[in-house]
Amino acid sequence: MNISHIEHIGIAVKNLEESILYWEKIFGLKCYAVEEVKDQKVKTAFFMVGQTKIELLESTDPEGPIGKFIENKGEGIHHMAFAVNDLEKALAETETNGIRLIDKEPRKGAEGLHIGFLHPKSTYGVLTELCEDKNQK
Ligand code: ZN
Repeated sequence: MNISHIEHIGIAVKNLEESILYWEKIFGLKCYAVEEVKDQKVKTAFFMVGQTKIELLESTDPEGPIGKFIENKGEGIHHMAFAVNDLEKALAETETNGIRLIDKEPRKGAEGLHIGFLHPKSTYGVLTELCEDKNQK
């Protein structure tokens, strides 16, 4: 697999508006996009830190993945995402190496990225996302 950089770090929050203010005021970062991803039952907010983004995630449904995460573990870092140049191949390779996948096939994430998650039971507890930006090609 060919990882170019950490694309983003996903952080589960209870209140998106409040946490946007925190990131803007304390770190002087500017939220450049807010987007709802219906599929994932989340509202997301993005900040750029160098080449890497911070993705804040607020659940729109207590039964959604972020709703459940916050109920079990509270707010905090939820996942990290690596940028790869060929997502389909990266997922296939990972599975061949015995890693359990949440997504066997790429699907659409926020910002039009193609994404796939590896299962945290197989990744030493780190929910890991691989993503490919097809817009940049
Ligand atoms: Zn993500």
